[in-house]
Amino acid sequence: MLQSKKTILIVDDTESNIDMLLAILKEYDTVVATSGEDALMILKEEVIDLVLLDIVMPGIDGFEVCRRMKKNSEWQKIPVVFITAKSDEDTIEEAYAIGGIDYVTKPFKPRELRARVKTHLEFQSMVQHLDFIASYDMLTGILNRRKFFTLSQELFDTHENVCAVMIDIDRFKHINDSFGHHSGDITLKSISQSIAQNLPNKAIFGRLGGEEFAILITNIEEATVMKLIEKVRKAVEESEIILNDTTHVHCTISSGVAMKESMTKTLDMLLQKADNAMYEAKEKGRNRSIFRA
Ligand code: GH3
Ligand code: MG
Ligand code: MG
Repeated sequence: MLQSKKTILIVDDTESNIDMLLAILKEYDTVVATSGEDALMILKEEVIDLVLLDIVMPGIDGFEVCRRMKKNSEWQKIPVVFITAKSDEDTIEEAYAIGGIDYVTKPFKPRELRARVKTHLEFQSMVQHLDFIASYDMLTGILNRRKFFTLSQELFDTHENVCAVMIDIDRFKHINDSFGHHSGDITLKSISQSIAQNLPNKAIFGRLGGEEFAILITNIEEATVMKLIEKVRKAVEESEIILNDTTHVHCTISSGVAMKESMTKTLDMLLQKADNAMYEAKEKGRNRSIFRA
């Protein structure tokens, strides 16, 4: 998570400023943009950890670059430190109002600038780490319930064709009872990996709790999703779960699949429909997938 070398984007239209900043920040990876347009291009192509942003530039100025960054979900969390010769209070107030995290005035004080950059990068790493902890399930490494629902809600609200799959491990309690809770945990990890490996990149896959998982996929036909879930079911059934040197087991899953249609007004309704189908799969003998139109 905590990557070693951070990348700083320096945006300034004056070459002498750029040279000075490069010298001050030589312990970091740096990328240079000489205009706002350039900066936006670079943000699209590179992973940037912090932006040092001049305000007054011809074309798209620093304030506009920052405004656009804060509107873009991929860029909005990147800290922006404004660097400028302007030091009137209106400008400073505006810099913070549009989402800048700090403000340094020219001429640069090298040690102060370095200290500020270091502090913001450390804070950013901490935020990223907390965001990671808040989004992923500790045991399996897949999305946790909270993040699954957040991402799913976005897709549900913006797409017509949405498919939900509920998955529950069959007779999972038996694993815990026979081999202990630790073996149960190994099984949960192994099965979530088998499922994840067989899903397309666009699928959202999370652990809702216990031995229950859910998938959300957009723009997919019923036949395609059933083929996919059948492939997942088979992969789990065939995968050997190594509990210890002498104990290897096999587990199966039951799945319920449902599509959003005109009557499915909420994400909860869609997941409920998939859950009903999953229970039907359990009743019909487990280790199977059922579609609920
Ligand atoms: P069914 O086929 O009907 O789904 O039966 P089941 O045994 O899988 O279902 P049941 O709901 O009866 O049991 C689920 C068990 O999962 C009970 C609970 O102790 C266990 N469990 C829930 N979370 C965890 C976990 O994080 N680790 C382990 N090891 N066990 C867990
Ligand atoms: Mg179960
Ligand atoms: Mg269960």
